[in-house]
Amino acid sequence: MPGEKAVETTGGAAAEKAPEQQSGSGSAADGAAPAKKAAARKPPVKRSPAKGTAAGEAPAKKASARKAPAKKAPAKKAPAKKAPAERVAAGKAATAAKAVVRKPESRTALFRRARRIDRELAEIYPYAHPELDFVDPFQLIVATVLSAQTTDLRVNQTTPGLFAKYPTPEDLAAADPEEVEEILRPTGFFRAKTKSVIGLSKALVEEFGGEVPGRLEDLVKLPGVGRKTAFVVLGNAFGRPGITVDTHFQRLVRRWQWTEQTEPDKIEAEIATLFPKSEWTMLSHHVIFHGRRICHARKPACGACPLAPLCPAYGEGETDPEKAKKLLKYEKGGFPGQRLNPPQSYLDAGGRPAPPLGAG
Ligand code: SF4
Repeated sequence: MPGEKAVETTGGAAAEKAPEQQSGSGSAADGAAPAKKAAARKPPVKRSPAKGTAAGEAPAKKASARKAPAKKAPAKKAPAKKAPAERVAAGKAATAAKAVVRKPESRTALFRRARRIDRELAEIYPYAHPELDFVDPFQLIVATVLSAQTTDLRVNQTTPGLFAKYPTPEDLAAADPEEVEEILRPTGFFRAKTKSVIGLSKALVEEFGGEVPGRLEDLVKLPGVGRKTAFVVLGNAFGRPGITVDTHFQRLVRRWQWTEQTEPDKIEAEIATLFPKSEWTMLSHHVIFHGRRICHARKPACGACPLAPLCPAYGEGETDPEKAKKLLKYEKGGFPGQRLNPPQSYLDAGGRPAPPLGAG
């Protein structure tokens, strides 16, 4: 769902073993506390490739420098200014050449760390929820289709008008496409989205008696519905667990080194082995909430992040607590959320509803 892009996920086949449970440690639940907490803690031990790279690079540099003491430019030049990718490659090569520099994390350690991060996230975001407004499966599936290439906020600001005029699949199936296009214009790609939601509604009417089916295999046959959309619907409207691998989820699980996979299907399959099936839906919400509020794509707010002590990628973003605090979004930064009608738990935690379209 995704405020960003729809990304497909794979089904929930994977193992759900839970080798061990650890008790969670407390984390602040508001924007200010994390900043203090993160600031108070020592920078975490880095397990990331970045460290391996840096560690691997030093010997390479030294070796080059020693080799060409008298000759000027060439010897110095090579190691001095490498692009990050080159540094990684150089670091890896040097590391490989020198044999093992650091022990890879064991499977058990990865399990424990992943579970611990999710427990922390559950404390930071006890109100995590799907960020699309909906009252029934039909509204959720339509809203999820509309959320491709735009924010959940924009979808939430647009769907009240759509559902007021077309409250059922039958209504939307019989709609004049041009009228629907006008309503959907603010969500972008409105012609294609109009086609999708009308086609989707027709399929619901013709093949499923006007009801959204509750099975993955049926959902993915609907126009405009991929596995990610299907899992959003199953997890949030039918209570059937699923992992939603959107752009935030992909970025964060790689930063945390839960997986090295880059394809959504493979990411989903690997992450599914780290958590019990019953936790998949909430895990997805936790990770996506964190990606939207703190661990942003371009400027992660590491200095205000309660996960800093557990994160191999700490330092990828701003580490100064005051500067990092300014990067926080939504309720963590004191701003409105994405839903016009958020759950009460969100309001109780100080979250604010999003404004309607045109109001801000
Ligand atoms: S990269 Fe930075 S913001 Fe993201 S989880 Fe790690 S410490 Fe937090």
